[in-house]
Amino acid sequence: MEKETCTFSYCEKPPVVEIETDLLIIGGGMSACGAAFEAVRWANPKGLKVTMVDKAATDRSGAVAMGLSAINTYIGENKVEDYVRYVRGDLMGIIREDLVYDLGRHVDNSVHLFEEWGLPIWKKGDDGFSLDGFQARDAGKAMLKDGGVPVRSGKWQIMINGESYKVIVAEAAKKALEINRQATGVAQNHFERVFIVKLYHDANDPKRVAAAAGFSVRENKIYIFKAKAILLGAGGAVNVFRPRSTREGQGRAWYPVWNAGSGYALGMQAGAELTMMENRFVPARFKDGYGPVGAWFLFFKAKATNALGEDYCATRLEETKKLYSPYAEKLGTAIRNHMMMLDMKEGKGPILMNTHTAMQELAKTMDAKRIKHLEAEAWEDFLDMCIGQAGLWACKNVEPDKEPSEIMPTEPYLLGSHAGCAGFWCSGPGDIPGTPEHYSWGYNRMSTVPGLFMMGDIVGASGHKFSSGSHAEGRIAAKAAIAFILDHADYKPTIKETPEAIAAELYAPYEIYEKYKTFSTDPYTNPHYIRPHMLQARLQKIADEYFGGISTWYMTSKTMLEEGLKQLELLKEDAARSAAANLHELMRAWENFHRILSVEAHARHILFREESRYPGYYYRGDFLAIDDKNWKCFVNSRYDAEKNTWELKKVPYVQIIPD
Ligand code: FAD
Repeated sequence: MEKETCTFSYCEKPPVVEIETDLLIIGGGMSACGAAFEAVRWANPKGLKVTMVDKAATDRSGAVAMGLSAINTYIGENKVEDYVRYVRGDLMGIIREDLVYDLGRHVDNSVHLFEEWGLPIWKKGDDGFSLDGFQARDAGKAMLKDGGVPVRSGKWQIMINGESYKVIVAEAAKKALEINRQATGVAQNHFERVFIVKLYHDANDPKRVAAAAGFSVRENKIYIFKAKAILLGAGGAVNVFRPRSTREGQGRAWYPVWNAGSGYALGMQAGAELTMMENRFVPARFKDGYGPVGAWFLFFKAKATNALGEDYCATRLEETKKLYSPYAEKLGTAIRNHMMMLDMKEGKGPILMNTHTAMQELAKTMDAKRIKHLEAEAWEDFLDMCIGQAGLWACKNVEPDKEPSEIMPTEPYLLGSHAGCAGFWCSGPGDIPGTPEHYSWGYNRMSTVPGLFMMGDIVGASGHKFSSGSHAEGRIAAKAAIAFILDHADYKPTIKETPEAIAAELYAPYEIYEKYKTFSTDPYTNPHYIRPHMLQARLQKIADEYFGGISTWYMTSKTMLEEGLKQLELLKEDAARSAAANLHELMRAWENFHRILSVEAHARHILFREESRYPGYYYRGDFLAIDDKNWKCFVNSRYDAEKNTWELKKVPYVQIIPD
C-alpha cells in the first residue's frame, strides 16, 4: 500500500506549540525525576532552561506508579565492587562494569534524599522482634545518613512503606523544575500528558540531536521542543509479546503498560547504537496478578517448590550445569527460571510459593498480635505495589498463612534497569581504573549520538539499578548533559523539518481514519487501514510465535527468527496505515510503532548472537548452550531509519573488577 500523506483535508489541523529550551528531559519516571532534580542544581546558576515532558501525570507515571515495598539497590555496609560482581553474575557475565560501578558509588545518596523527602524506610530496632525489628520504623529512628540502620530483605534490598514513593520523588522533581521556571522566566517547563513520537537531527549537524516532537493526549495540540541536549528516560517495552492475560484481563502485565518501547524507538531512530538488545526479562511472579515475590523470598524466607514439594533449584542444578556452567552455579534470575521451566515442562507444576510454611515458621517465635502484624505486612507488600494481586487473593479466598500460591514465568519484557540489560551503548565516567577506551569516549551516559543522553531502563548492559539506581543514573546523566551544554555554549538547535510537516506526520493516523472510515459499514474492518488494537494483536502473535514467547516456551532459532522478521517487515509497512479515531488511539498507533522497532532490535540481536546466553529468558534451539569462547562479548547494533537497514557487530567485553 502507498504511504498516505496527511493534508488535513479530513482531520482537524492542530495548533503547533514550539518550545526552546537548553535541556529537554523526556519521561517523568524515576530516572527523569532524578534528572530534573539534579539538572536544576547545575542549570540555575548558569541561567539554563530545563524542561521535562511526560506522556502521563508525573506523580504516578512509570514503573513505580503504584508504589513499591522495597528499594532494591542500597549499597550501605557492602562494597561497590561486590555490587558489580553480583550484577555480573545475575546478568550471565556480560555487563558494562564501569557503568555499574559508577551507579553503585552514587546510588545511596538518592536513597538518603528519598528519606529526607518523606519516604518511610524501615529501620532496625531493638525490640527483639524476630524479623529484624521491622516494627521499629514507627519508633523515629535516626535517618540512614545519620547512622540509622535499614531493615534489609536481601543483601542489596531495603524495606520501605512505599505506596507514595513515586509521588514523593515526583514532588522534589516538580519543585526543582518550578524553581528553574521562575529563575528563567519561562511560562511552562513541565509538560504532562504529551506523548513524544520522534527526535530530529540538527539541520547543520546531521549527527547531533536537536529536537523532539509529540502531541497532547488530552487536547488537539502538537509540541516541538528544541533543545541543546536531550535526556531520554522513556522506559522499556511492554506488550510486544503476547501476554499470558487474555481478553478482559489483557491490560494486566508485570511491566507498566505505559512504557511502550518509546525509550528504545526514539533513540534508535536518531541513530544511537544499541547494546545487548538480545536480553529480555521474564519475571517469575504470582500467577495472573503478577504480584511481587521479592519480599516473600527474601524477607519472609518462603521457598518455591514444584507441586510435589521438590526444590527445583536443587534437583535441577546438575543438569543445568552441563550447558550453562559457570553461570548455573550462581543461581541467577534467568537460571532459576530455567530450572523452574524444566519441572513445568515435565508436568510437575503448578510451581508454588510456600507462603503458608514460611509464615508458620515465623509464627513459632511470635505472639498472636505479632502474627497478625506479620499477616498485615504480607498483604501490604501487594497493596504497596500491586493492588490487583491483593484483589485476586481476596476473590480467590487465598489465606497466605494456610495455603501456598502459584507462581509462573510471565511473557517477556524489554528493559535495562531491573534484572535485564537491553539498552543503548553509553559513554561511561572514564575515571574507574581499568576502563578501556571503547567504554568512555565522551560525556557520562551520552549515547553515540552527540547531545543525546540516556538513563534508567534504556541504558544497556547495566541492569540491577532498580528504582534508586535509575534515579541516581538520571542525576549522573543530567549533570553530564549540563556540562555538555555549557561546553557548547554557542550552539543553537535548528531543524530542517517545518512545523506543518511534523504535524502532518504525527497526525497521519487521524487523517487516514477520517478519510476512509465510511468505506466500510464497520469502522473496525476496512481495506484502507488497520486499527491499533488489531495491529498490536498481530505484533504480539509474531513476537510470541517466532521470537520465543510463552507459546514456544521461550524457544526460537535462526529459521524462526528469519521468518518472524519477514512478517514483521510487512507489519511495519501496514503500521504506516494505522488509523486513529481519537487522541487515545493516536497514542496507541504510535506506541505500536515504537514497539515494532524495539522488538525488531530484540529479534535481530538474538539472531546475531549464536548461543543461548540467557536460558530461562530465551533459548536458541540451534545453539542451546552458552558459548563463552565465541560470545563473551557485547552485541551492538545501529538502525538507519532513513534506509531501514541494520548493522550488527561484536564489541569486546572487558572485566574491570576481578572475580
Ligand atoms: P520509569 O520509571 O518506568 O519511567 C518511564 C517514564 O517515561 C514514565 O514517566 C512514562 O510516562 C514516560 N514515557 C514513556 N513513553 C513516553 C513517551 N513516548 N513520551 C513521553 N514520556 C514517555 N525497583 C525497586 O527498587 N524495588 C522494587 O521493588 C521494584 N519493583 C518493580 C516492579 C515492577 C513491576 C517494575 C516494572 C519495576 C520495579 N522496580 C523496582 C524497578 C524500577 O521501577 C525501575 O528500575 C525504574 O522505575 C526505571 O526508571 P525509568 O525512569 O527508566 O522508567
